[in-house]
Amino acid sequence: MKKIFLLCTIALGLYACGSVPITGRRQLNLVSDDQVLTLSLQQYNDYLKTAKKSTDKTNTALVVKVGQKIADAVGAYFKATGQEALIAEYKWEFNLMEDPQVNAFCMPGGKIVVYTGILPYTQNETGLAVVLGHEVGHAIAKHANERLSQQMVTDYTGAAIGTALSGKSEKIQAISSTVYGLGTQVAVMLPFNRKQELEADHLGLILMAIAGYDANQAIPFWQRMSQQGSGTLELLSTHPSDNTRINEIQKYLPEAMEYYTAIWGSGTTPATSTPPKNGNTSTEWHF
Ligand SMILES: [Zn+2]
Repeated sequence: MKKIFLLCTIALGLYACGSVPITGRRQLNLVSDDQVLTLSLQQYNDYLKTAKKSTDKTNTALVVKVGQKIADAVGAYFKATGQEALIAEYKWEFNLMEDPQVNAFCMPGGKIVVYTGILPYTQNETGLAVVLGHEVGHAIAKHANERLSQQMVTDYTGAAIGTALSGKSEKIQAISSTVYGLGTQVAVMLPFNRKQELEADHLGLILMAIAGYDANQAIPFWQRMSQQGSGTLELLSTHPSDNTRINEIQKYLPEAMEYYTAIWGSGTTPATSTPPKNGNTSTEWHF
C-alpha cells in the first residue's frame, strides 16, 4: 500500500491514481483508457479474425443476453453513483467462440469472449452470469490499465515513465507486448494477478446480483471448475487456490445479496436458470 502511495505521489499532477468502483481499492493507474484501447483493440480485432465464432445460435444469444444484462447493471450502478465518465469509452461486446478450452477472457473497454468449452461448467444462464460478471469485473476495475502501469514501474524509472507516456507509442508498445504477450494464442488473455482475480470475483457477484441473478450460484460453479482442474487458464491461472476463491466468494455473498434485495426485493426469487439448448437432443454436452 505504501508503495502505491509513493508511486501516486510521483505521478501526482501528471496522472491520477484511481480507485476501483465498488471495492474502493486504490490502484496505480498511469495510463488512460485511450492508450490502453489503442493497444488492445487491434489485438482484439486480430483475434476475432483468426478465431472461430460459435455456430450455436442458442448459446451465442444467451451469452449476449447475459452479458448485456450485466453491462446494464454496470450502467445502472455507475449512473446511480455519478461515475459514468469512468466507462464513457467502453463499448461492450460479448462473443461465444468455438474453442474447447474451459475459459473466457476480457479485453479493455468491455470486449468479452467466452469459449464454448466452458459451457458444460456454466451449465445454465446463472452460471454464465458468474463468468460474465467476473470478466466484466476485470473491465470496470481497469485491471489491464493497472497491469500496464505496474509493468511500466517495473521496467522503467519514474523519469522514463514520464517519457514513455508523453512520447509516442513506441515505448508503450514495447511494454505492452510484455503485458499482452503479443503474437501468441494467449495474447489476448491478460495475466491478471491473484488480487485482481479475487477482486473480479467480488465485483462479478455484485454485478450479477444487480442484474437479478442468484449470486449464490457462484459457489457450485467454482466447485465444478475446480473439479476439471486445469491450471493454465485465465480464470484459474494466477490462482487463488480453489479453496481461497470459494472462501472469499462466501465472504462477499451477503454484500451481493444486499444489492439484490435492495433492487429486486427480498420476496423475489433470483432469476433462475434455464439450461441452454445445445443444438441436439442428447443430455450430453457436445462441443
Ligand atoms: Zn479473471
